[in-house]
Amino acid sequence: MEEAKLPPSDARSVGPDWPKTLLAWYAAHRRPLPWRTPEGAPPSEADVYRTVVSEFLLMRTRVRAAEGYFRRFLERFPGWDELARASEEEVLRLWQGIGFYRRAAYLRGLARAVVERHGGRFPRDPRAWDELPGIGPYLSGLLASKLLGLPEPAVDGNAQRVVARLFAWEGPKDDPGFVRRVREVLRAYIPSESTGTFNEALMELGETVCTPRAPRCLECPLQDVCAARRSGEPARYPRPATPKPRPLEQRDVFFCRTEDGVLLARRDAGLLARLWHFPHFASLSEQVENCCAEFVLVGTVEHAFTHRRWLLRLRVPPVPGACGGAEKVLVRFLVKDGWETRWFPPEELARVPMPRVFRKVEERLAPEWRS
Ligand code: SF4
Repeated sequence: MEEAKLPPSDARSVGPDWPKTLLAWYAAHRRPLPWRTPEGAPPSEADVYRTVVSEFLLMRTRVRAAEGYFRRFLERFPGWDELARASEEEVLRLWQGIGFYRRAAYLRGLARAVVERHGGRFPRDPRAWDELPGIGPYLSGLLASKLLGLPEPAVDGNAQRVVARLFAWEGPKDDPGFVRRVREVLRAYIPSESTGTFNEALMELGETVCTPRAPRCLECPLQDVCAARRSGEPARYPRPATPKPRPLEQRDVFFCRTEDGVLLARRDAGLLARLWHFPHFASLSEQVENCCAEFVLVGTVEHAFTHRRWLLRLRVPPVPGACGGAEKVLVRFLVKDGWETRWFPPEELARVPMPRVFRKVEERLAPEWRS
């Protein structure tokens, strides 16, 4: 942890009082979110757990979407012990639909580490956090400021946007130099008596007022000092990240249902690891092509991930429930490629941890598996 410094020269124009103004606004406008701890009270272990769970849920997920998941998660896993004892399958099942499933695996791993290595109490020494799964710079800053009162910034997309606009910094926001400058300026301005609250206030302003496309400057407590507002085009700051190409991959998905159930597969690594998939292949070996030659194309499903897009061609046997032995070849190929395969009774499919893309497939294929 570094010591507080003077603001960089290009971040002094706003004067020293904006953090106080921001805190006063936050005191009046703070939303009563289910994971928020009471103002001023030292956080209990339950508060720490709730904060950590909410932050894992909120990574790349909007507050409104995360609230329902948070309530269900806390009902089922009210503390570190319960989460550490849970099976991976159960955690993934509660997580399904929100995406970025690796977060769920990290969160469960974190609970196990807290229970096994720290006696069920989240360590209060930040040096121990480097050894814990899933604690990156953002969460580390947030916990240091909230739990320990250290002047550490928690720089998420909201904080980056507000700071960029306050000083009319262009970015682009995926430039590591830009993120470093944001961190540096926040470390200089963070008030030592309200470190955690300041971080929360900044993120709250970004989430509710200084929004990406249409900032509501007339409602903003920082409007008098904000350089982006003075420019007349606040939404220009910061420049968006350079778009990454998202290549389109075509895959063939095979729906196999026999008297044993519906065939699904999962693997330990790769995209959508540990979740159940309908068997799918990017390119078909001759054996798979031959054994499934009778399968008919019944439609397609498209799905966009952050870094690629899939076009899935859905193929089913000509007679529902009769795969003609093709399932044995598919299983053999899947196992050879490192997949675990299992047959599920159709009525259990809704409870199987499955990524959103294959829920779409399931819906599209519903007439097949229900017949
Ligand atoms: S004045 Fe406008 S652009 Fe500046 S911080 Fe407030 S909402 Fe954002």
